[in-house]
Amino acid sequence: RSGAEKFEFQAEVSRLMDIIINSLYSNKDIFLRELISNASDALDKIRFLALTDKDVLGEGDTAKLEIQIKLDKAKKILSIRDRGIGMSKEDLIKNLGTIAKSGTSAFVEKMQSSGDLNLIGQFGVGFYSAYLVADYIEVISKHNDDIQHVWESKADGKFAVSEDTWNEPLGRGTEIRLHLRDEAGEYLEESKLKDLVKRYSEFINFPIHLWASKEVENEVSVEEDESAEEETETTSTEEEEVEEEDNEKKQKTKKVKETVHEWELLNDVKAIWLRSPKEVTEEEYTKFYHSLAKDFSEEKPMAWSHFNAEGDVEFKAVLYIPPKASYDQYERYYNSNKANLKLYVRRVFISDEFDELLPKYLSFLKGLVDSDTLPLNVSREMLQQHSSLKTIKKKLIRKALDMIRKFAEEDPDEVHDDDKKDVEKSGENDEKKGQYTKFWKEFGKSIKLGIIEDASNRNRLAKLLRFETTKSDGKLTSLDQYIKRMKKGQKDVFYITGSSKEQLKKSPFLERLIKKGYEVIFFTDPVDEYLMQYLMDYEDKKFQNVSKEGLKVGKDSKVKELKEAFKELTKWWKESLASENVDDVKISNRLADTPCVVVTSKFGWSANMERIMQSQTL
Ligand code: ADP
Ligand code: MG
Repeated sequence: RSGAEKFEFQAEVSRLMDIIINSLYSNKDIFLRELISNASDALDKIRFLALTDKDVLGEGDTAKLEIQIKLDKAKKILSIRDRGIGMSKEDLIKNLGTIAKSGTSAFVEKMQSSGDLNLIGQFGVGFYSAYLVADYIEVISKHNDDIQHVWESKADGKFAVSEDTWNEPLGRGTEIRLHLRDEAGEYLEESKLKDLVKRYSEFINFPIHLWASKEVENEVSVEEDESAEEETETTSTEEEEVEEEDNEKKQKTKKVKETVHEWELLNDVKAIWLRSPKEVTEEEYTKFYHSLAKDFSEEKPMAWSHFNAEGDVEFKAVLYIPPKASYDQYERYYNSNKANLKLYVRRVFISDEFDELLPKYLSFLKGLVDSDTLPLNVSREMLQQHSSLKTIKKKLIRKALDMIRKFAEEDPDEVHDDDKKDVEKSGENDEKKGQYTKFWKEFGKSIKLGIIEDASNRNRLAKLLRFETTKSDGKLTSLDQYIKRMKKGQKDVFYITGSSKEQLKKSPFLERLIKKGYEVIFFTDPVDEYLMQYLMDYEDKKFQNVSKEGLKVGKDSKVKELKEAFKELTKWWKESLASENVDDVKISNRLADTPCVVVTSKFGWSANMERIMQSQTL
């Protein structure tokens, strides 16, 4: 097109598009929900701006916050239009030519190897999935601050942007015109589109309309019908005249089939979180999770909690435990601003970047909060400082931890042996068997980070802690179960840290404890060392690292005798090792077969901690 400015895609985008266009991926359906989700995001943005400035919405149809889908069977064009925020020329070049989000390379690689496109929406590249079904795409867009432009590309490494002088003015918003590939003809079927919207875009909070065709039978007078054909391009006013004449003359009529079009609403816009939890089915919660998390891998979330908080601060919330940790959940943990809750105020979407709603360690949860208490017409920055947020956060944490605790309690594997029989009898818990172990594998690290970060909930979080011990037989166990099994007279909870269970099992520190029948916890995750600096006690029990000073296991009268007998030896030994950073040499009863062992002082770094610190500085 003349006057079009040409651009090249960022290399990464080009690579992604190549993969998509050559993809043998069978589930091409996903493109529609990605485009609808973008339309919905754009509508959210303009609605948010309108909170403080009503004029941005414009007048008439332009002010209608809706999504429209239209088909042109003859030209094989599917178009999706919204009256959202739109894109300026600069936006078109930036948003549809480069990738903002990091981690895309990782995704591209993963997609190349697995062929799975289901998570494309999570990587901020959902738009390009449209090339699964189209070989040429036009994006027509009008932003309030700019004139209307057209972006177009055949996915051949380049795209063009032109001032739009030929299409109908959009008022505001974006129309995505997909020129469908020959093999994507099914997307020209209305029934297919209706089905897809029902399946994947049910929870979009704006009306989605389809320009649906309908066959109608009209009674038309024979004569007038003929004359109408002669007069090409009849207008509606003339048709009315025809009807009038029809009434007057009462001529013979004939039945004619006609195709008419009308906007058909495809979704039910009643927000799921406003409904009573009793009315919402499990399937609906699952589908809502998929749309919220942009995760269409069909996996069910592990658990959810839907509640209504009342009192000073009123809000409704739905929280989910995802089926899996996201690929980058624990990457750059302290530097990234991951917030997975969407904040609404009185049903208006405000932001999904509010990290004031949940602490970092709970950022693995997905969900939504809709508050009636927060003010609507203030800036995001002012909202961020609003005093109600603290209360909301506190309640959300409480509810989240309750949800996890209940999830653990439902797992028959989790129940202590004594109570186990009752649960097994019911036989309904097969599905729940081992579910907490699965949770622990995916998100156990978050619970540990929580113990480190959140002093006020430390005890609640410690209850959720799982680990293996010298007696757990390869299974996970909890502090409560450990305490139940403690030997008579045992005061402290014993643990040992190291790089693996196998290595720890051979540790001389365990010899005597095992012989005497004590249970010792294995902590083998690097984070465990930090964890145990914060977890000082649990239900009036103290923790004792068995490789550290201070281990007390029963009384042993022989120690006193031996101390006396070897007084000279220990004295000589201590003096000889003084230059080697050894504080003391002592007689003790902690060993069985090994003659001697190096023990860490109470507040010193364990050997394992030394190892971790060394690997971090390298
Ligand atoms: P994501 O939606 O995760 O950001 P996409 O690849 O789906 O990633 O879209 C890229 C960007 O293009 C969006 O962030 C948005 O800025 C812009 N965009 C896409 N579709 C629209 C639309 N219908 N209206 C306005 N902007 C859009
Ligand atoms: Mg998107």
